[in-house]
Amino acid sequence: MVDYLLLKAALLTEGIWSDHESVSEVGTRYKEQNHGLFGWDFENHIKQKLPDDFCLPDGTVVQFRLNTKSPYHVASIDDKPQLYYNDHAICEVSWLRRPRYYDEKTAKGNEMIKIGQIGGKDDLFFCYQNYCSHFAKNKQCGFCNLVSTSNVYDSVVRRKDAGEIGEVTKAAWAEGDVNHVNITGGCINPKREITIVSEIFESIREYTGFDTVPGTLLPSPAKGDAIDKYFETGVGSLSFAMEVWDKKYYEAICPGKSESTSHGDFVESIKKAVGVFGEGNVYTIFVMGLEPKETFLEGVNTISELGANIIPFVWSPNPGSKLSGHRAPFAEWYAETTRQAAEIVHEHKVPAGTKNHCYLCDGNSLLHDALREKGVV
Ligand code: SF4
Repeated sequence: MVDYLLLKAALLTEGIWSDHESVSEVGTRYKEQNHGLFGWDFENHIKQKLPDDFCLPDGTVVQFRLNTKSPYHVASIDDKPQLYYNDHAICEVSWLRRPRYYDEKTAKGNEMIKIGQIGGKDDLFFCYQNYCSHFAKNKQCGFCNLVSTSNVYDSVVRRKDAGEIGEVTKAAWAEGDVNHVNITGGCINPKREITIVSEIFESIREYTGFDTVPGTLLPSPAKGDAIDKYFETGVGSLSFAMEVWDKKYYEAICPGKSESTSHGDFVESIKKAVGVFGEGNVYTIFVMGLEPKETFLEGVNTISELGANIIPFVWSPNPGSKLSGHRAPFAEWYAETTRQAAEIVHEHKVPAGTKNHCYLCDGNSLLHDALREKGVV
């Protein structure tokens, strides 16, 4: 029997490639990558349309990370995409449906695909401003390729209009697959950011009729009163990109971010946010694989004690990031560590918060899949 969690970990850490036939309908019938923020592939592929993600037979969603040197590849057998490890057939896979709104335009004439993209099966993603101030001082996070992705693909409107975000949300929701929004932006002036975010959620609520918008908001690290202000926008949950739990590793890997938001600031803010948004309605994001298992699990334990959830992305040493060319830990490390993390989260009985984020959103994280093994969906 296939261990799908381990297989997903291997596909994310080794990457994957595909024959031409299997991806011939990507960009027409099936959803293609559109690089809304970061690039997660091991190699850039400017002229080639590739799947954004795909499903394994048990419903696990996996992000497609191109690596033409990977032993994992997809070949078309009887018109069906089949996953191989070298010559050994593993299982069938399925690409995801391309949203119809990807071909539509907003009232202002912008292509909707350049405003918001669907991540996984049901997560409507917007980056309101593809910008981060840390790059100008060469203090960007070591794993981040935001600037290089924007320059290489130039595939999005870099500063989005609140009205257009509302319009795209309505169009995407009308197709029936989307269940959550996932909204983030660059590191910008905090007061200005609150105004931008308030306008965006006002627009989404107007276009959709939601009182509380299911999904999550990941602004620059929210602190103090800003947390209350974000709650008033009507978003269902608030996220914090803490990236690395261990204080010293965090300062080394995120030199710019750690200057303005310390490890302690994050913990205090997450605690406050749980009080405002409620248990299970706060997410802490880690890039998993940049620090030892021991400190990562310490973080999982402390965050779970606070009543917050965790989204640990599997690190991709992607082109354009400072750590490009390195490699992530092996799949076995990810599968074992994630199962231990799931045990901790489950023991603390943190509410799953699936109305705001679920395993179908998570092509690049394993924790929700590990929690699913425990019956949390
Ligand atoms: S804060 Fe770090 S991860 Fe976020 S955009 Fe800036 S450099 Fe990238």
